[in-house]
Amino acid sequence: MEKMENMICVDIITCIGCPMGCELTVETNQSDKNYIAVSGHFCKIGENYAKEEITNPTRNIATSVKVTGGDIPMLSVKTAKPIPKNKIMDCAKAVQNITVTAPINVGDVILKNAANTGVDFIATRVICAVG
Ligand code: SF4
Repeated sequence: MEKMENMICVDIITCIGCPMGCELTVETNQSDKNYIAVSGHFCKIGENYAKEEITNPTRNIATSVKVTGGDIPMLSVKTAKPIPKNKIMDCAKAVQNITVTAPINVGDVILKNAANTGVDFIATRVICAVG
């Protein structure tokens, strides 16, 4: 019977570092967590992206929240930096029922430390107060 712990896993991912979209092949070893071999990249960005995508995948979230007293009813918000991929749903739930009061400026913190990730949601546009 083949030993599973020595098995090499191969993932194919697409680099999002630039419009070339290189197809990256990433090899990992079940018995050696430090072994990550990347091929198919044209530059270091792709290699770094592949390693991070395998060991600690992260994403930015963009969504919108309700506004009271503003010139428009919804405010677009985003995470100030990428969050762990496995926290996306928790962060989306944490921000979904928030209502902010105008005025709002770009970069205003809308939700601090979303789902205990240490990452804030911030406003991405200006909302003027009316009335
Ligand atoms: S590996 Fe480099 S050249 Fe290829 S898509 Fe990523 S950033 Fe662009």
